[in-house]
Amino acid sequence: MTNRRNFIKTAAIASVAVALNSFKGKPEEENDFSLKKGKKPIVLSTWNFGVQANAAAWEILKNKGRALDAVEAGVRVPEGDPKERSVGYGGRPDRDGRVTLDACIMDENANIGSVACLEYIKHPISVARAVMEKTPHVMLVGDGALQFALSQGFKKENLLVEESEKEWKEWLKTSQYKPIANIENHDTIGMIALDASGNLSGACTTSGMAFKMHGRVGDSPIIGAGLYVDNEIGAATATGHGEEVIRISGCHLVVELMRQGKSPQKACEEAVARIVKLTKNRNKDLKEIQVGFIALNKQGEYGAYCIQGGFNYAVNDETGNRLIDADYFLK
Ligand code: ASP
Repeated sequence: MTNRRNFIKTAAIASVAVALNSFKGKPEEENDFSLKKGKKPIVLSTWNFGVQANAAAWEILKNKGRALDAVEAGVRVPEGDPKERSVGYGGRPDRDGRVTLDACIMDENANIGSVACLEYIKHPISVARAVMEKTPHVMLVGDGALQFALSQGFKKENLLVEESEKEWKEWLKTSQYKPIANIENHDTIGMIALDASGNLSGACTTSGMAFKMHGRVGDSPIIGAGLYVDNEIGAATATGHGEEVIRISGCHLVVELMRQGKSPQKACEEAVARIVKLTKNRNKDLKEIQVGFIALNKQGEYGAYCIQGGFNYAVNDETGNRLIDADYFLK
């Protein structure tokens, strides 16, 4: 008969075994129906513009190219498109009418590069890569980032398109800063990829929240917040209200949860749960916040989760390029 002491002992042994399994990164959810299995090479990116971005990344991945090259080429697509008004050229300005861009990149060897509050340069992701490859530093901001970009041959251009300028002038009439969840006055492209050699990389780039204070930096250029890659475990990237993602070191958390044995889906769900809890504790209104995470592990399994419905992401592997609606917390 199992007495109480034996029961406690058995339970203790069992929990040590569970902990050890988790430690080894074994999947916790044997029958996890939410598990989405892909196959390397594979690339994931945030929002509708992820489809076109994935297509560019796929050209590199399908030819056994490096994940790092794929993610850079992929996110350059919306960066260069003036019709995409939340990233790169054409991005909405801050409240002073200045387009300031944030981006970061991370490779399979934990090399990192980042720029924040960068003006006049169409492709901040490529400047971030140059920071990573050509400087002893990992992050350059503002004027320093611009000076560096110019020294590397990047062209200085006006990034404020007519439409964005019009919207900004309209905004000035009320000057009310109220980023709305899923309404495209923000949105970042975050992209993570696993290449044919089994290496992971990621890139993240944005013009940030429209009409933000000049100098405001979100999560997107911050390694560990808007993007994180651990080549032994997996990668994650984020979109939405950057302040909330930074508060929990979001993407580093997602990767660490995968290290503990969570599937990419469950890891994204737990990171969102963390934001939900902190928002409640801080007496803030969850309905006013949107954050979405996407994650990919070393096995090619992937997942995504967000606070409010309306967030989607694109996945491209040998079975094609598709847009998926992410599951969400506030139902
Ligand atoms: N995360 C970005 C920022 O806070 C914006 C977004 O993805 O919507 O700047």
